[in-house]
Amino acid sequence: MRALTFLCAFLCMGSAGVASAEVLRLGQPLCHAVSSVVPAGDAIPENFACTGKPQGYQKGTLWLHDMLPIGADEQDDLSLIIHSSRFDRLFVYFTYADGAMERQDVRSGDFGSHWRAGGQLAFRAPHRDVPLVGVTMRFDKVASANLLRMRLVGRGEESTQTTGLATSIGAALVLLLAGAIYNASLAVAVRRQFSAWQAAWASCMIVWGACWSQLHLFFFPGMAGAVSAQICTGLSCLAISLATLSAVTALDEGYVSRWARRTALVLTGCVALLGVPLSFMRSGPIDALAGVLGILVLANLLAVAFCIAQAWRRGSHEARSFAGAWSVPMVVLGSIEFIDTNTMFWGGGSQILILFAAAWQTLWLSVAASRSHARLRIERDMARQAEAQAQELARRDSLTGLPNRRGFIERVGTVLEQSQQQGATVALLLIDVDWFKSINDVYGHEAGDVVLATIARQIGPHESRTCTVARLGGEEFAMMVAGLEDFALKRFAEDVRREIAACDHGEAIGRRNVTVSIGLAKAATGADFRSLYRLADEALYDAKRQGRDQVVVRTLDVLDSSAAEDIERAALGS
Ligand code: GH3
Ligand code: MG
Ligand code: MG
Repeated sequence: MRALTFLCAFLCMGSAGVASAEVLRLGQPLCHAVSSVVPAGDAIPENFACTGKPQGYQKGTLWLHDMLPIGADEQDDLSLIIHSSRFDRLFVYFTYADGAMERQDVRSGDFGSHWRAGGQLAFRAPHRDVPLVGVTMRFDKVASANLLRMRLVGRGEESTQTTGLATSIGAALVLLLAGAIYNASLAVAVRRQFSAWQAAWASCMIVWGACWSQLHLFFFPGMAGAVSAQICTGLSCLAISLATLSAVTALDEGYVSRWARRTALVLTGCVALLGVPLSFMRSGPIDALAGVLGILVLANLLAVAFCIAQAWRRGSHEARSFAGAWSVPMVVLGSIEFIDTNTMFWGGGSQILILFAAAWQTLWLSVAASRSHARLRIERDMARQAEAQAQELARRDSLTGLPNRRGFIERVGTVLEQSQQQGATVALLLIDVDWFKSINDVYGHEAGDVVLATIARQIGPHESRTCTVARLGGEEFAMMVAGLEDFALKRFAEDVRREIAACDHGEAIGRRNVTVSIGLAKAATGADFRSLYRLADEALYDAKRQGRDQVVVRTLDVLDSSAAEDIERAALGS
């Protein structure tokens, strides 16, 4: 919205500048004469016609003449501004009341000090004591009289207009450059074909803008004139093709019918096919072909608009951001075919409009691309988080929240590795609730669950860097402890047994005491889990057999365990 306001303000500002400039057009008030061959001297022909259109000048010379009313106030201080076009050579003659004539000239490849930003040439009428009465222009081998645009402005006005034009062109080019760099880096970073087309398109518009405005003459003065004009025609057709490709490739195939997509691509191909030969032409039916090209461009725009509208109707997100991005350039490109914008914007006309519309489009799409990229990132992060949560849940027991057998085995691996690195002893405690079945039978399965959860809450806090706690299944818990030696280890196991026995199970099982039996297997460093588990299970069996509610300790001989492993492996192999 703010950008639209700016555009309106800019439009008004540009139009205001026109009021003080006199626009010269064929027949109003320009009269014309044609020499079929380029004349050798400076003799101005007598036979100027003030009606009709000049013919047969492309290989010769076109003369344009304007008589100025004698006595006009600002006449001493005039500048003739000609919008650069395709010609070999241009002479400007200022005629004074005493019959004297001052001549200035430029040629293709050498605009000398006459070139101005905004694609213009400025010729200042030399100041003399007698009034200026006429101005005559001589174009040698000009491509098209219809494309010529000139204005008479006061000298102060000329400086203001030139500065204003250069500033606005610079601003539009900087915006486009930002869009081009952003899209190019996006194309590399996320490998999006659309961003690559968009970056190519914005770059193409930058080169076009620099060439059209003649800013490139700062660096390459020899490109002045016809060569630059030809490059501009080629680039503008290329830009339309790249923009169409970028729009069509961004819309998902499912949202746009194949024939609509093909029509847009065929039309853009035709624009490129006609634009390239047209950019090389110096004579021939340039006006007619330019008319055909204009129609093709309009048809191409309509086809792209149709693709976007169709995709929008079918629910495409991209189509919505595209509609916002393309609406301004489309309206601009469409309207300049019908409205004469050439005298607007200090003579910058349609080109300035196109540059700003292009900057609008590329910045809009850059913002849209960043937003969709950010949305995708958030979705990906959420999916990863959900995946991590699912993984974590698969390793936890839902009733007690402790790691389950799978989680325990994974954690135990790291405890064993660490104990081996530090040369510490390891021990496995298998904790089984005594007579648990009878608790279920007497108080119900839910009461049994409460008991299991209470025991888990009691032993869970032992979890640390050197101790892992888990519920292996049913009413069986396990603890893997590293770094505790004989006496301390036995005391630890006894403490765990007593803590559990002292647990308050509340209303669930009345005043009944719940005890556990613990089978403890300890080993010097280097033990493997399977041997430890087997030994702890045997110890637990002994604890049950010997009357329950007690700890039975067994020590694993590491050498024995590896020998047993070898025997087991050999047995499996045979
Ligand atoms: P012992 O002292 O020999 O260990 O006897 P016990 O009754 O504790 O052992 P037993 O293996 O005969 O019974 C275990 C019971 O635990 C059987 C089963 O129904 C019950 N159980 C297993 N998982 C759960 C559970 O998640 N919740 C409840 N409430 N009961 C469970
Ligand atoms: Mg059991
Ligand atoms: Mg039991």
